Amino acid sequence: MTIRAGVVAVQGDVSEHADAIRRAAASHDETADVVEIRHSGAVPDCDILLLPGGESTTISRLLRDEGIAPEITEHVAAGKPVLATCAGLIVASTDPNDDRVDSLGLIDVTVERNAFGRQKDSFEAPLDVTGLDEPFPAVFIRAPLIDSVGDAEVLAEWDGRPVAVRDGPVVGTSFHPELTDDARIHDLAFFESEVANVVSDLG
Ligand code: GLN
Repeated sequence: MTIRAGVVAVQGDVSEHADAIRRAAASHDETADVVEIRHSGAVPDCDILLLPGGESTTISRLLRDEGIAPEITEHVAAGKPVLATCAGLIVASTDPNDDRVDSLGLIDVTVERNAFGRQKDSFEAPLDVTGLDEPFPAVFIRAPLIDSVGDAEVLAEWDGRPVAVRDGPVVGTSFHPELTDDARIHDLAFFESEVANVVSDLG
């Protein structure tokens, strides 16, 4: 079966996510047809969606200006999976704690942008993630922290603070799972959960 995967490409990293999605799909003997989302009209054809890192203020503005934002909301309302990473998590949150971010309200969390400091404070850490047998090598780059969690499940914590969460079909991470050759977070978000049944039903 071929899954159509949309990677939001208005700004931020795309190709690493496309590779990770293809690898995660291949581990389930499936193929992913990856499309880059820059304008409205493409999201409705996607089975899974990825909101990458970048700059959350810019991404949220472009999503709104291009008319992509309501399409993502409808995708989630239909129970289809989304993985939102770093700036993507900020954009997906219910409260980005910053008026310049017009968030999508998909993950019931309050976030703090740039909570780990500046670019030079980027780091990698092994994380225990619910659903993964071995720690995941998480790369944090000017990452947000999750301040408070409403109706969402915490999947991983760093230093006692949540850094990965699931709210229904949407998984959000503070870190960049695409920057290692480990595709297990993409696998977890798209193929290894009850929402994976939605993906298989689409086939
Ligand atoms: N600092 C960025 C923001 O607040 C996120 C950084 C990233 O996605 N790597 O939007």
